[in-house]
Amino acid sequence: MTGAAPAPVTGTRVTEVADGVFAYVQHDGGWWVNTTGFVAGGHQVLAVDACATERRTRALLAAIAATAAKPVRTLVNTHHHGDHTHGNVLFEEATVVGHERCRAGVLADPVLEHTPPVFEPMPEWGSVRKAPPTVTFADQLTVWVDDLEVELRYVGGPAHTDSDIVVWIPQRDVLFTGDLVFNGGTPLLMSGSVTGYLQALRTVRSIGAGTLVPGHGAPCGDEVFAILERYARFVLDAAAQGRAAGLGPLETARELVLGEFAELIDPERIVLNLHRAYADLDGGGELNYPAAFADAVAYNGGRPLRCAV
Ligand SMILES: [Zn+2]
Repeated sequence: MTGAAPAPVTGTRVTEVADGVFAYVQHDGGWWVNTTGFVAGGHQVLAVDACATERRTRALLAAIAATAAKPVRTLVNTHHHGDHTHGNVLFEEATVVGHERCRAGVLADPVLEHTPPVFEPMPEWGSVRKAPPTVTFADQLTVWVDDLEVELRYVGGPAHTDSDIVVWIPQRDVLFTGDLVFNGGTPLLMSGSVTGYLQALRTVRSIGAGTLVPGHGAPCGDEVFAILERYARFVLDAAAQGRAAGLGPLETARELVLGEFAELIDPERIVLNLHRAYADLDGGGELNYPAAFADAVAYNGGRPLRCAV
């Protein structure tokens, strides 16, 4: 390999949200730019999610080392999407833990080898390769960071994906939600279910956590749930009305006034979410992702989807 060293990662910050529990927030929280975190014990660290690229994951590892100075023994994946799992392989001393369908999802995901040409700039993955969870579970698993209990809970699904778990630390009142919560971003429901997402939000809200660390955006409280629920209902209503009027997902999206949701990052996800809602109304099944992304680009005025990765 030759060429210039990769550009430094900017716009990241580590926030201690509770004693020994840290959020790692990456600006701007849009496509491929996730929020992760870690739990620092006296002898070991548990990390929650990797990043999308080698460059970003190495910056995360450096931030963990600078903050905790202990080896990462456990890496939990909140779901299979590549912005949370591509960097797994760089956690060399960690056991990777996730839902059993997260493992299947990582193995089946074609994006690393065949990235759809719909992003600007296109992500540069670097040296990452697939490293799915090697410890999997179906419903619930408890992991200990020294004497601190960390509960991994499957929330049922499909919702954001079919492998969504949350990471609950009852003694610290902190919940890592993965992408069940986008704080300031448009929820992405194309690889899950809109109605399932509403159910999952009820489940997550019922945990009653004081502090939420989302999958994208800054830590927050449970006030975030209201707009997520309104958005999911907005998508369901739009899909039902559009379908009744004989319109496809793109045409329906173009007719919509996004209102308060226009302020959320990546508003073009409305098209992808409508594709999911339409497919669910038609009995479910896999989306035609190339067609859905082509519609999202068309909705975006023919421009690729902006990303900061
Ligand atoms: Zn995701």
